[in-house]
Amino acid sequence: MTPPRLPRPTELVSAAPAMTPFVAPEELARRVGRSELLRLGANESAFGPSPRAIAAMREAVALTSWYGDPESLELRAALAQRHRCAADEIVVASGIDDLMGLIVRAYCAPGDACVATRGTYPTLFYHLHAYGARAEFAEPAADGAFDPGAIVDAVARSGAKLVYVANPDNPSGTFADRATLAQLREALPDDVLLFLDEAYADFVPVDELPPDVIDPRTIRTRTFSKAFGMAGARIGYALASADVIAVFQKLRLHFGVNRTGQIGALAALDDDAFLRGVVSEVARGRNDYYALADRLGLPSVPSFTNFVCIGIGTRLQAEAMVGALLEAGVFVRKPWAPPLDGYVRVTVGTVAERARLAERFIAALDRVREKAAS
Ligand SMILES: *Cc1c(COP(=O)(O)O)cnc(C)c1O
Repeated sequence: MTPPRLPRPTELVSAAPAMTPFVAPEELARRVGRSELLRLGANESAFGPSPRAIAAMREAVALTSWYGDPESLELRAALAQRHRCAADEIVVASGIDDLMGLIVRAYCAPGDACVATRGTYPTLFYHLHAYGARAEFAEPAADGAFDPGAIVDAVARSGAKLVYVANPDNPSGTFADRATLAQLREALPDDVLLFLDEAYADFVPVDELPPDVIDPRTIRTRTFSKAFGMAGARIGYALASADVIAVFQKLRLHFGVNRTGQIGALAALDDDAFLRGVVSEVARGRNDYYALADRLGLPSVPSFTNFVCIGIGTRLQAEAMVGALLEAGVFVRKPWAPPLDGYVRVTVGTVAERARLAERFIAALDRVREKAAS
């Protein structure tokens, strides 16, 4: 008997490799039979959203029967003021991860290359695979940071028309100043689009970031998921020329932005004191982690974000450390490529969470070291 003919996805999708972008902490908890974990693995804020955002969202929930404003106009107007640009130079989406899909869909044809630093934030790669495009890797610098020269070489080698740079970077936590970014932009051909992912920009003083000037060859993305503490609200935005934003208007999901999230984000923008409080507490938290690493004789990477990479040893030892911490009820992740694949990445928690982390980290490290010695 001939097998039945069944519906099939497109060739492009059939050819895409099966991937699990991230194993979520909920799933990890189930695997070790725990109801919850000390959640320091996804760079979520330990300090929550602004009380003003919470109050605004509480009120907004009652009108969940309504769609949000598909233009996110109020939020875009407030963001335009914040970034000294026009509202038509901003698009709001369901997080940067959503914007990544739009950028790849708009600018990468099947077979096209996109240059990114090996080891950087991986979500872009899933979108590239799903659209039949490919990553062309530039090797990182010795501290895991992006290397502008390597990026320019990779563009020349591959003919890529899209370059992805996360700054501050995840997972290394490193940061390149505005002069370095300007040099990179100038060294790239004008027809190459620079996708500058600034998910952690709120942790960096504004005068160290590239200035708020719209460059028609650059897309910058920001999010409410990190310093603003609103990852679950799923609100991110891109800053780009009106022409580039008009491209996204053709593709984006019209009602893809959650109404409650829009309202919460708008209220959060109105609470700068809260944001500054989070940023300074995160700086204290990073210092605690550097001190912990020091005390244990481990290296750490100076970070400009809400996480710190701590060196455990070899890649296998770092993987064992992630496993040992999970067994102890702690969720962390680790960089996936050298030179930081022997490190674990720990998100800054509250003071109490940092104390619990330190205790379990020391015990887990002992177990990893014993295993390595035996
Ligand atoms: C967390 C993170 C994102 C995802 O942001 P969302 O707005 O929550 O989708 C994107 N890029 C980097 C570098 C991140 O660390």
